[in-house]
Amino acid sequence: MIRKNGFVRGAVVAGIFALGAWGVSPLAETTAAAKAPAAAAQKPAPKEDSLKVIDSPIAANCFTVSKAPRKIDTVVVHYSSAINWFAPDFQKIVSPEAKAYAQGIKLTKENVNDHKFDWKLVKAIFESYKVSSHYMIARDGQIIRFVKDNDISYHAGKSKMPTDGREGVNGFSIGIEILSTHPKDDPTMKTPKDAYTDAQYAALNKIIAELCRSGHKITAVVGHDEIAPGRKTDPGPLFQWDRVRTKDYKPVACKEAAKATASPGL
Ligand SMILES: [Zn+2]
Repeated sequence: MIRKNGFVRGAVVAGIFALGAWGVSPLAETTAAAKAPAAAAQKPAPKEDSLKVIDSPIAANCFTVSKAPRKIDTVVVHYSSAINWFAPDFQKIVSPEAKAYAQGIKLTKENVNDHKFDWKLVKAIFESYKVSSHYMIARDGQIIRFVKDNDISYHAGKSKMPTDGREGVNGFSIGIEILSTHPKDDPTMKTPKDAYTDAQYAALNKIIAELCRSGHKITAVVGHDEIAPGRKTDPGPLFQWDRVRTKDYKPVACKEAAKATASPGL
């Protein structure tokens, strides 16, 4: 979960279900080029357009528009779910629009487990708290974009880098939420495979590789619990860090991206 400046605040969900803003982006998919090497050779897709996402802009009060180009060197990994939808603290601040969505899917305390990974429900939670992430990764690896890379998403709150001690991590990072839960909240989360799917790791690495390809020198991939120790517990004990970074926090995906660039004949 995420907080702005360390505080959880109530808010009104604004236009989150404006369907006109939803849709699969027309961006080309990397895998399509990989499956059709001949076509890709004739007409290569622009490298900056290789990420397939659903663009679903989050309410404007959940992030800050950055007018100048932002220097991004860090990726923060989080998890989120709707498993605590009925927690009294959240029910105090849930917006009428979010409530209406929950009613539309007939959400109850008894079936909340079946809907805990509904990204629209989780987005409604973010908007109720006036927070966000840049990306969300669904269980099947689908990537949803809430905030553009250059804008400042409110995902880290009070935070400090374990590498160089910099504070205010929102300013120089990209926040990525992965739909999952913590074993303390969810008894079904027993093993790493329960907590995060292979498709989610693949999607996370795709986003990081794309950041590097588009010119951002990503020097650290960190967990929310590492930049806000004691206050945050995500992505939790079942997240397999060696699938996304080296022991010194460097992204695995960008090393691979560098290799791919150096070997265009692959
Ligand atoms: Zn978090």
